Amino acid sequence: MKLYIATSNKHKVTELRALLTEALPEIEIHGADSLGGMPFVDETAKTFEGNALLKAEALNALATDKSWTLADDSGLVVDALNGAPGIFSARYAGPDANDGDNRTKLLKELSGVPKQLRQARFVCALVLICPDQEISSFTGTCEGHITLKPEGVGGFGYDPVFKPDGHEHTFGILPSEVKHAISHRARALNALAEFFRGRS
Ligand code: IMP
Repeated sequence: MKLYIATSNKHKVTELRALLTEALPEIEIHGADSLGGMPFVDETAKTFEGNALLKAEALNALATDKSWTLADDSGLVVDALNGAPGIFSARYAGPDANDGDNRTKLLKELSGVPKQLRQARFVCALVLICPDQEISSFTGTCEGHITLKPEGVGGFGYDPVFKPDGHEHTFGILPSEVKHAISHRARALNALAEFFRGRS
């Protein structure tokens, strides 16, 4: 079976290939490049799942064979900010913001908020369109809290200001193997792999 991933990010394709081929050796994973590239998608939905669906549908429209299409959307949800930055995580500090700008804005918005009220979670939504056009979705979350200042330089995005529950350090310090075992993305991917295992 052939699965197209709605991303032009090679890192995401590699990560998904590693996990899914372990669960289902006969699966053939392709990036959007093999369908001529990922079409532009205006991410106008109000949820992670809604935006993942828009991306999956855009790529699925290009596939002419009996294939599967998968898309993801993820971000950080902070309780004290009523769920912000949420679906706007990548562009929280503005359309041209980089990861550092976004972290600085987040810490500024949370200034004065005490440790016990800084709960947050990473969320990853995956949407799968089956060859018969049936749609399934899978969500993974990783609970934690936002630190008072950045700690570590590892990972990307909000990793240096996010300390997962049960750990002493942020994702900016923890080894990547630890992150990959407990992250929102890993959990959503495990749910997807479970779905495929149940079908085989
Ligand atoms: P994407 O949907 O996976 O491209 O993620 C959107 C944004 O959410 C990223 O630009 C990051 O700011 C944030 N984000 C998503 N996953 C992570 C993560 O694992 N660590 C840190 N930030 C993340």
